[in-house]
Amino acid sequence: MDQRIEPLIRNLQKRNIPAVYCSDKDSAALKVAAMVPQECTVGISGSVTLDQLGIVRRLEARGNQVFNQYKPGISRDENLLLRRQGASADYFLASANAISEKGELVFLSGYGNRTAGITYASAVIVVCGINKITATREEAFKRAREYATPLNCKRLGNWHTPCLADGICRQEICFPPEYRRMCAQVLVIEAEVVPERLKVVLVGENLGF
Ligand code: SF4
Repeated sequence: MDQRIEPLIRNLQKRNIPAVYCSDKDSAALKVAAMVPQECTVGISGSVTLDQLGIVRRLEARGNQVFNQYKPGISRDENLLLRRQGASADYFLASANAISEKGELVFLSGYGNRTAGITYASAVIVVCGINKITATREEAFKRAREYATPLNCKRLGNWHTPCLADGICRQEICFPPEYRRMCAQVLVIEAEVVPERLKVVLVGENLGF
């Protein structure tokens, strides 16, 4: 196991955020499925990590109602409705853009369903590959803005941002109408008040951006 994992789990626990370790994405998918009761509704945030786990298919196949805004063929209005429903589902699943070794979780969001779900859903599971661990909070922001966001802009194809071309964040000019700012909302989770509300699944392989 990566030597950063055990101290990170302890640092998360100090912040009232229980964390578990899974060695690979398949065991992480099993772990997440076991953490979500079958009768619960589930919201998701856009995440390559969750796609790699195949968690939506797994939960839907066994009967969970998943508010999946990425279902092919749906209208923009349906997409927005599913985002709203997902943010108030029984469980909300997400990945962090970065997590510092001290246990600070950094998330960027465009529409805000992601930040809404993470901050206020009754139960939240954050899945995080080992590639998202950074030494400091500052490096977590750098990773989120100069690595993850440009790749997500490329992946999704409909986000015109200054960082798209060269990976350099120019947040001082990244506003409409010239640009469609992907990281419109910034969330750092430093601690959790409600016991067991927010949990982290750390995965011992590279997942997502
Ligand atoms: S603020 Fe704009 S330029 Fe900076 S990372 Fe976010 S989308 Fe890219």
